[in-house]
Amino acid sequence: MEEVHRNVPFECRHCWHVWHEDYVVRHFEDDHGNAGEIWLRAGLPAAPPSAGVSCPSCGCQDATMFPDGYLSRHPELIPPAEPAAPDPTPMLTPVRKPLY
Ligand SMILES: [Zn+2]
Repeated sequence: MEEVHRNVPFECRHCWHVWHEDYVVRHFEDDHGNAGEIWLRAGLPAAPPSAGVSCPSCGCQDATMFPDGYLSRHPELIPPAEPAAPDPTPMLTPVRKPLY
C-alpha cells in the first residue's frame, strides 16, 4: 500500500475565496490485482475532491479546483494567516513647518 500526500487548491466562484485542503491518497491493490484508491482527509475517509465542495468563506457550493501545485506557483493567492504588521515608521509630512 502506498500513501501519497495531496494538497488540493480550490477557488470559490462566488466570493473568489482561495483555499487548499490536505488529503492523503492510499493506493492499494486487491487480491485480484484491481487497483483502487482511498482518499483521506484529517485521517478520515473522504470523498475525492471535486468541484462543488462548500466554500469555507461563503458556504456556497460553486467552487472550482486548481491543478496540483498551482498555489505553490501562485503564493500570492493564499491569504495570509494574519494581517500584515503595521509599519512602525511614523508618517512624515512633506510640508515644511512655517518658519514663524
Ligand atoms: Zn465563497
